[in-house]
Amino acid sequence: MSSIVLFGPPGAGKGTQAERILGATGLPQVSTGDMLRAAVKAGTETGLAAKKFMDAGQLVPDTVIIDLIRDRIQEPDAINGVMFDGFPRTVPQAEALSSITPVSHVIAIEVPDERIVDRICGRYSCAGCGNVYHDLFNPAPKGGCPCGSWEEKRRADDNESTVKSRLSAYHEQTSPLANWYREKGIFHSIDGDRAIDEITSDILRSLGH
Ligand code: ADP
Ligand code: ADP
Ligand code: ZN
Repeated sequence: MSSIVLFGPPGAGKGTQAERILGATGLPQVSTGDMLRAAVKAGTETGLAAKKFMDAGQLVPDTVIIDLIRDRIQEPDAINGVMFDGFPRTVPQAEALSSITPVSHVIAIEVPDERIVDRICGRYSCAGCGNVYHDLFNPAPKGGCPCGSWEEKRRADDNESTVKSRLSAYHEQTSPLANWYREKGIFHSIDGDRAIDEITSDILRSLGH
């Protein structure tokens, strides 16, 4: 068993690409952002601990995240590994991960900062199925999401002021991980400033599909 990491700044397209490669990899998507939002909504202890950091666009403490992942990886569907989306985001998280499950590929979706604000401020998703859309770059079909239970959802932290903090957190705390993984020889850099389909093909190629 081995897992895949989708790596990149907020709004790079990790979730979008995860949806598209799920079938090919056969691995379940594990998004720490989605797990934290579910915990906040459910009002759990984890949610309470995480909310103020998320609202401020800061990273949630490593201990909270590592506990979440340790539990998630015990689930039966994770037996052959998972596809991490938005985890790890710090070197201590990556170190913890290396003792939890082996990682075969780190797919880094590279997008310049000046594109990120537009990506994040136009983002919405379908509450029914989780599909990610964009006002301009990837609008939902006219009749709504094909899943049939269309309800448009926007994230509270997808606004211009929070994006700035999230980008600083990325540059200061997350981007050092790139070298950490490069040295391990499993790092694949993908140009994420292109059409969604082209990026998907490149990712699948990097994964050997
Ligand atoms: P992440 O999971 O990395 O935060 P998302 O997959 O949610 O990023 O994408 C952020 C926003 O950008 C979404 O609204 C999505 O529809 C849009 N998007 C994703 N990939 C591209 C792309 N290649 N070109 C333009 N917009 C994109
Ligand atoms: P995006 O890809 O747009 O940054 P996510 O959904 O991955 O959004 O994350 C939303 C927020 O959840 C982050 O701003 C951060 O507060 C928190 N978060 C998610 N994953 C992690 C992580 N691995 N480590 C620390 N904080 C995290
Ligand atoms: Zn849907």
